[in-house]
Amino acid sequence: MLERPAIPADTARAVKLVVLDVDGVMTDGGVYYGATKAGEAVEMKRFEITDGLGVLLMQEAGIEVAIVTGRRSKVVELRARELAIEEVHQDPAAEKLPIVSGILLRRKIDWSEVAFVSDDLADIPVLRRVGLPVAVANAVPEVKALARWQTRRAGGAGAVREFAEALLKARGDWTTVVNIYLAKRDPEATKGAGREPE
Ligand SMILES: [Mg+2]
Repeated sequence: MLERPAIPADTARAVKLVVLDVDGVMTDGGVYYGATKAGEAVEMKRFEITDGLGVLLMQEAGIEVAIVTGRRSKVVELRARELAIEEVHQDPAAEKLPIVSGILLRRKIDWSEVAFVSDDLADIPVLRRVGLPVAVANAVPEVKALARWQTRRAGGAGAVREFAEALLKARGDWTTVVNIYLAKRDPEATKGAGREPE
């Protein structure tokens, strides 16, 4: 596989907010439709568990992680809760630009401090404005053309984890956050390697 340039360190260090799309980024884009015996519609998506730790490590590094999707579904709320993501926005009209603008206003974050992980045309208005536009491997050509960095893994197959690791490594945060993560789970073995946050 060809060597791919790392995310530029200054761009990575500027990131305060990572916005994730859902379908095609946190999932493979598939949606399972079913129904209960009572005839109530059920919608399911498959999330990649290793992405969750990527989200946690970014949060550990002080980065806010948000979900902005053009579809409304209960499973996205459940996954966001599991990942302690506060900014969850599901807009069936797929008007992502005003949603992200609102997050930036509320949290006093500049467009240059945002990374957006995306795959499809609805993501382009946001992608054009952010400091770090990212395309997943399965993104459409128009999205890839605008991206400054691209994952090798596809959405739903670890793309978010791959991006999280690349971002944290480019910032020089990776070893620290991994050590903090491990120290919380095995304080004896990792004594001195990572510091517990206050
Ligand atoms: Mg998508």
